[in-house]
Amino acid sequence: MKKIVAMILTISLILGITGCANKEITPVSRETFALGTIIDFKVYDKDQDKSNQVIDECIERIKDIEKKMSANMDNSEVTNVNKNAGKESVEVSNETMYVAKKSLEYSRITNGKFNLTVYPLVNLWGIGTENARVPSQSEIDQAISNIDYNDAVFDETENTIYLKRENQGIDLGAIAKGYVGDEIKKIFVKNDIKSAFVNLGGNVMAYETKVDGSKWRIGIQNPLDTRGEYLGVISVKDKSIVTSGNYERYFEQDGKRYHHILDATIGYPADAGLISTSIITESGIDADALSTSVYLMGLDEGMKLIESIDGVDAIFVTKDKEVYTTSGLKDNFELTNEEFTYKK
Ligand code: ADP
Ligand code: MG
Repeated sequence: MKKIVAMILTISLILGITGCANKEITPVSRETFALGTIIDFKVYDKDQDKSNQVIDECIERIKDIEKKMSANMDNSEVTNVNKNAGKESVEVSNETMYVAKKSLEYSRITNGKFNLTVYPLVNLWGIGTENARVPSQSEIDQAISNIDYNDAVFDETENTIYLKRENQGIDLGAIAKGYVGDEIKKIFVKNDIKSAFVNLGGNVMAYETKVDGSKWRIGIQNPLDTRGEYLGVISVKDKSIVTSGNYERYFEQDGKRYHHILDATIGYPADAGLISTSIITESGIDADALSTSVYLMGLDEGMKLIESIDGVDAIFVTKDKEVYTTSGLKDNFELTNEEFTYKK
């Protein structure tokens, strides 16, 4: 899977570089591995030492957030909350509190399909780990019985999270990368960076513009092509572009694909007719939460939701290779792959 992610990066970057008119500025490019994915930086500044320092700071910040919010690390804040489920409340940082509350917000919006307390199900399926397997129906029922976002109790004054029942758990995997994007942006602003491009395994942050002042051109991954081909292109300035798809992390059994976005109300990988969803908006955390949410909701409901929110656009790709976009993208999205049909 890593290979695929790397391919996606290549595509987006090729697009990122073309049109760079200012020959004086050579970007500093770096790659790191965190949050279970390859993270790729491109920072454009005349002072390459400064660009390197800024990237160092970003990487440190990412590792810091991962140590708090990973559900797979032994002593993360999230793991501590989960270990103490049904026992006691656990103090967490302001930022873990903030991200968990965002997840709760989207749990409500999607009626629990997206779910802060999805951890028992994620753990059961083990998708992306060596233990991935199709669980029995009774195991799934058992896991679902432990999922209820109303059982997550937030104490704002004590800064604690408490899960009411044993075997419950929270998972911020669908939203943490988006938050990381927002925090990286703060580091760019603080250091007066004028142009940068970051790809966190499919979450793209196109910061400001290219050095020549023109918009970034971003390739939207073709979900059917593991060679990193894109199906279309959009032009953006200072946006997060987050894509959720059934190709990101999955395993196959008896010819059937089981991917990592689980519908927490039914216990199986989402099967709402879509194979990928992309969200384009300023806030990374909302883009990340929304791309997973609309993937779970399906085209009709998802489209309605996104059209109802100001400043947010989306691209939906269905199983039938049809591409739909929100009204805000009609003059922007350019279909480049004829295998797909753009339903304008
Ligand atoms: P990616 O990590 O590929 O960018 P997403 O942002 O869509 O994909 O998030 C998928 C991750 O979210 C899963 O790996 C898991 O940790 C978590 N997750 C899976 N199903 C749900 C769900 N129903 N609600 C909230 N989080 C989920
Ligand atoms: Mg997401």
